[in-house]
Amino acid sequence: MAVSKTKPISLLTEAYACGQRDFGENKVQELCEKQALMPEDIRWHLIGHLQSNKAKYIAPFIWLIHSVDSLKLLQEINKQGEKNKRLLQCLLQVYIAREETKFGLEEEELYALLRSEEYKNLAHVKIRGLMGMASNTEAREQVRQEFKKLRNIFEKIKQEFFLDDKNFDTISMGMSGDYELAVAEGSTMIRVGSSIFGGR
Ligand SMILES: *Cc1c(COP(=O)(O)O)cnc(C)c1O
Repeated sequence: MAVSKTKPISLLTEAYACGQRDFGENKVQELCEKQALMPEDIRWHLIGHLQSNKAKYIAPFIWLIHSVDSLKLLQEINKQGEKNKRLLQCLLQVYIAREETKFGLEEEELYALLRSEEYKNLAHVKIRGLMGMASNTEAREQVRQEFKKLRNIFEKIKQEFFLDDKNFDTISMGMSGDYELAVAEGSTMIRVGSSIFGGR
């Protein structure tokens, strides 16, 4: 997936002409502005933190929300899915980095969410998998261990909650600086920005 945040429409159009169809943005407003200007067949991904009160803006068109980090947010997405008569595809963002600043669920919170009655009642969201961001560090072995951890959590969750579900299939991990490691550790979707569009 091509991360086009902060980049002008002209660059997105160039990528589109090369065949790129999956684009990711981290801000709701920028995502909506670009969606209105670009062709209909693009699959739009939200990769940045989503505030509950903004879910309504993306619900009509979003392809995949990578950054679900609470039950409350998932319930709001579900509500907007119902309003728009859509099944909204989501990834649960898991906290795997050692840095304090990153968003995401702790492993225990992830289980608690999936076991909750509230989650089981959500008919307009579909959990496709997990997303994680590794630490922003040169320490390759640490980054590898963080990706490995996400992959292991994915396998455990699949066993316990999604065993016969072919659509629980997505591990979103890896960016420009670490996607090769991520792929080696089982990533099924990398989120690459600056390597495609240049630095920000
Ligand atoms: C910006 C961003 C990326 C892409 O980062 P690059 O280093 O430019 O490839 C990937 N994932 C998330 C969540 C981001 O915010």
